[in-house]
Amino acid sequence: MYANTTSAMMQKTGQRLYTIGEAADLIGVSVPTIRMYEREGLIIPLRKTSRHRLFAEHDLQRIRCIRKTINTEKVSIAGIRRMMALIPCWKMKGCPEESKEACPAYHDHDAPCWMVTNKSWMCKSDECRTCKVYIETSDCSELKQILRQYSIPVDVEIPPKR
Ligand code: SF4
Repeated sequence: MYANTTSAMMQKTGQRLYTIGEAADLIGVSVPTIRMYEREGLIIPLRKTSRHRLFAEHDLQRIRCIRKTINTEKVSIAGIRRMMALIPCWKMKGCPEESKEACPAYHDHDAPCWMVTNKSWMCKSDECRTCKVYIETSDCSELKQILRQYSIPVDVEIPPKR
């Protein structure tokens, strides 16, 4: 099924892209579930000029990982979002002090940096979807480990799955 998806498209790089319906079928979730993950800021689909969401293989991996964390580790969507909100993007990107202080993402602890608007000049021209912060935190089962690596306390309350 995976190789025969008729509407699968290729990016310029030769990367296979899937529509939201195809992605949902391949992962075994509903389309509204994927839309909800997007609304919650857990994923950033590729949007072409048509405004249709497209998903690459690494997006599917990211969603599978989210599903696994929810189902086997019993972490809620809010919990995953909370951990993503704690990712120290300024450390990962090496933002200078003055940029960090002026950046809304540095002060916002409720949403991942890629959901924060009015980003600092360090991020303004970057596309979040291809940013190292987004890419390197794509395995949500490793989020706690990544946070510890950057000395971010993870003993904050992570909402469990209800
Ligand atoms: S470019 Fe986007 S993902 Fe990267 S650090 Fe800035 S806000 Fe976060």
